[in-house]
Parts: sequence; C-alpha cells; structure tokens
Amino acid sequence: MLRSAVRRVPHPHLVLPLVLAQIVLGAVVLEQATVDTPAVREVPAFGRARVAPDLAPVAGAEREAGVRALLAARGAAVRDRDRAAFLATVDPSSTAFLARQAALFDALADVPLDGWEYVLDPDREQPPDPALDAVRGEGWWAPAVSLRYRLAGFDDQPAVEEQWLTLVPRGGRWLVAADDDFAATGAPTTRGLWDSGPVVGVSRSRVLVLGHPGDDALLRQVASSVQAAVPRVSAVWGEDWAQRVVVLVPRTPQELAALVPHGGDLSQIAALATADVAAAPGGLPVGDRVVVNPSTFLRLGPTGRRVVLTHEVTHVASRSATGAAVPTWLVEGLADVVGYRGADVPLSVAARDLQADVRAGRLPQQLPDDDAFDGGSPSLTSVYEQAWLAVSLLVDRYGEARAVELYRAVGRAEDAAGVERAFEEQLGTTLPAFTRAWRASLRARLR
Ligand SMILES: [Zn+2]
Repeated sequence: MLRSAVRRVPHPHLVLPLVLAQIVLGAVVLEQATVDTPAVREVPAFGRARVAPDLAPVAGAEREAGVRALLAARGAAVRDRDRAAFLATVDPSSTAFLARQAALFDALADVPLDGWEYVLDPDREQPPDPALDAVRGEGWWAPAVSLRYRLAGFDDQPAVEEQWLTLVPRGGRWLVAADDDFAATGAPTTRGLWDSGPVVGVSRSRVLVLGHPGDDALLRQVASSVQAAVPRVSAVWGEDWAQRVVVLVPRTPQELAALVPHGGDLSQIAALATADVAAAPGGLPVGDRVVVNPSTFLRLGPTGRRVVLTHEVTHVASRSATGAAVPTWLVEGLADVVGYRGADVPLSVAARDLQADVRAGRLPQQLPDDDAFDGGSPSLTSVYEQAWLAVSLLVDRYGEARAVELYRAVGRAEDAAGVERAFEEQLGTTLPAFTRAWRASLRARLR
C-alpha cells in the first residue's frame, strides 16, 4: 500500500529518471457537512552527497551484486510465500526486527499479490554514521530501495514504496538488519497495513478493501458502498478510468498516520485519497488508494458515508487528468458535486457555514485559492462549500458533460494563464465573469 509517499528525491548530483511525490486528498466530515482537506505535498528532500565509506570492507561492485542477490531472494520469497526463505534474508542477531519481519510475512498471507520486488537504486544512499557503525558493525550500507508490488486484479501498474533498509555483510553475504534506522532523520521505510498486523481483504468486482481481522463488518460495508459509488462517478466523469478502487481501513489513528505520513492533522478526516505521482513528463499516478479513518468515518450516518466515499472515488477517477495547474476549488468542487449528486442533502445542511457567512455579510470576493484549503484553516468548511457551489454553478449552467470537459481542459493547462484560456475556450466566458456569476448565485441561493 502506498500510503506513504515514495520519498524519492532528486540526488544533488544525479538526475533521476523519475521523481515521485505523494498527493493526498482527504475528506473531512464535520457533523453533516462534508468538506475535505486536500494537500499536494512535496516530500521533504533527503538528499545528501554520496560519500564512499572510508573503510568499505567489500568492493563497490561486489557489494552491489551481493545486495542485488539479497533483494532478489527477498522478493522471490514473498512471491513464493516461502517464510523460511524470507526470514533467511534477515540478520539473525537483530532479534526484535526478525520477529517483526516474521509477523510482516504472516500478515501478507491473505493479501492478493501479483508481483513483489525490491529495486535497488545504488546512486542514493544514507551517509556514513559512526554511531550506527557501533550498532550494526562497520561496512553496513543503506542504499535507496523501492518496493514495487501489485494488488492482483486492481493495480495495473505497480505501487512504489520507498524503503530505507540497513544492509549488513555477514559471513560472505548480505542481510537486512533493520528498516527504521533512518526514520528519525527523515528517511523512514514506507509502512503498509501489513506492518500493523494480519490483513484481510473484502473484494467486489470493482473494489478491494483491505483491513484487519475483526473489522469485517466495516470492511464489507465500505466495499458495498464503494462498489455502488463507482458507477455514480462514471455517470459524471465517464468510463475512461480503471473503475476499480483499492480502499485501506487502518484501525487506529497511529496506524493511519503511518500510512499517510505527510497527511498532516487527520483527526477530522473521514477518508482520503492518495497516490504516488511520477513527476517526470508523461508520468502517471500509481498506487491509488482510498484510506478510511474509522474513528471519524464511523461517526457518520449512511448518507455521510456515501458522500465521503463517492467524493474520494471521484478523486481516484480524475487523478490522471488533474494536472498541477488545476485550482483546488475545481478538484474539490467536482468531488463534492459527484458526492452529493442524488444524495438529497438540503443546501442548508451541505452549505451551512457558507450560508452563515453570506447572511453575516461575508460574501467571498474571490474563488478560494489553493492555500485556503489548508487543513489548519478555521474557515475550511466554508471554503469547501464555496468550491462545491462553484462547480455546482458550472453544472447548472453548462451541464455535467461540459463541466467535465472543462476540468479535463484545465487539467492539461500548464499554468494559471492556461487555466484562464481553458475557461474561455471551453465555456466562452472568462474566469472573472464566472466569479461574478458565482458570487451572484451565492447571494441568491444562500440569503
Ligand atoms: Zn477531496
């Protein structure tokens, strides 16, 4: 699972073919109102100059070959479901880590995997650390490793998760001694549900929900709700997306935070959508996941749950069409339009905060800028309502199909000027004119 960003960062002296960042788009639900705290987060760079260890006991090429053999054996062991072979890749003197690795292996037993491999990037590595020499012995090596795996039937492309493993030479071969030696210095190993305990899955034709044993009723309910959301989303967005969704249901806030390490304050979040996005030209998102926060999600009624999950599935559907220049109000507004479509939630509930603002004489001057969607904003609920009613106005005026065409055109824009041009070309209006119409509609609908 890919809840953590692939913390793949440019090496200061190398050009990487692929730079990945994580996009997190969350849904907050406050009582009956659905809003959402999205974030597009660049992962903090962990790039230090590569320095050859002074006392490397093994020549570089030999070391790299040994590590490649280790990683190949480790991946094959998971694919072959060979527990003994997997644990044979772990340094037996790291007893606590060995026990966690055994639990990790067992936790994967029921996960429908199609491919699981570890890919070495020898050009990025953790710097020398004498303190770590004392723990792991001299000669340890911590190059960047990415785990690539597919969930059978759901991932067309492998999800990519960065790992920072401490690799040690022992008796002429290489073993894994730890996977968290660098977490405190900004290079954690990406965690999956399987790091927290056994994982069970509930699948329908269009959804795979992964969670933990004991939560089966919730997993089934989420599966049915997302299965129903997929055609609702396709009815608006169209069918040219995978129409298959993977949902993760962690059990605790701590586990959620580990899955979404760059998600900020998630306490009000009912669900969110994440993916790793290749920043290279033409790069497409991989590892799309919807992540449910049970502690908030379970407080919602049936309508709230439906709205939230449909909102998140809309993000999954539109992800690959959402370029960097798309304003957040358009992203979130569309997701809420689809989420609320047919849900029969009164305007006085769904736009309660904004209505209070308008009635108090605080009619927004402008469409909300991207910063207004920051999770810490005190007016976040109103901001989401503004976005929702802006896209609602687009749909009312031009119809769903043209609103989606506009979104796609804006998604292809490379900058703010391109966004303005898309408005003019698609709708025959300007963004300022649309903004005026939106303000007038707020005044009329929310007075
Ligand atoms: Zn959202």
